[in-house]
Amino acid sequence: MTLLKVAGIETFYGASQALFGVDLDVEEGEVVALMGRNGMGKTTTIRSIYGLTPARAGSITFAGLDITQQQSFRVARLGVGLVPEGRRCFPNLTVHENLVAAARDGKWTLAAVIDLFPRLGERSSQYASTLSGGEQQMLAIARALMTNPRLVILDEATEGLAPVIRKVIWDAIRRLKAEGESILVVDKSMAELLPVADRCFVLEKGRTVWTGRPAGMTPLLQDRYLGV
Ligand code: ATP
Repeated sequence: MTLLKVAGIETFYGASQALFGVDLDVEEGEVVALMGRNGMGKTTTIRSIYGLTPARAGSITFAGLDITQQQSFRVARLGVGLVPEGRRCFPNLTVHENLVAAARDGKWTLAAVIDLFPRLGERSSQYASTLSGGEQQMLAIARALMTNPRLVILDEATEGLAPVIRKVIWDAIRRLKAEGESILVVDKSMAELLPVADRCFVLEKGRTVWTGRPAGMTPLLQDRYLGV
């Protein structure tokens, strides 16, 4: 079943057009990689899906419902769990409070997310503001999972983190995949992303220019679409 379908969206920041026709879809249980160099429109695509910067043209459907013009809280309620770039948690709440504030019924309980990220259990009573960057990222992912979303969106979840923490995050992503979660992921580390992805979509200047299996993302194509 197609969970998310983005068809020909065009999105603007004021008068400035950022997306000129983005196509993308995620089947249930799939890990889809959204790729492209800096400024090509990955975050804007995610913002459009989540209703933060709604598309002016084209359409977005989620689980068969048209969400093109839907507000963020409704998109969240329908089952999209976003881990935004820059990991936003409530700094003045403890780890525990951040997690229970997000909770909705489903398999991702407090115990389940702490099993995924044991570090969060150890930091349970600490304020989120006192966590390291990597721990905050774990918390942001755990919070999204606590909403028991049908689709998890990860925007640069490993950016700027130490290698040991990146490994914890990638291990978690691989485990989510093994458990059948549907995931849309933006990340710059191709060595980690390609093996976990089922399909890839590449953006260039606000358009989808390539889509295929990770095996088709040859070094030549990587150089052309992702090289700096
Ligand atoms: P990055 O990896 O750098 O985040 P990206 O692929 O996610 O890149 P976007 O952030 O979606 O790219 O940016 C797409 C285009 O929209 C760029 O030309 C960017 O300059 C522009 N843009 C992004 N945010 C804004 C904004 N708030 N106001 C105006 N233009 C913006």
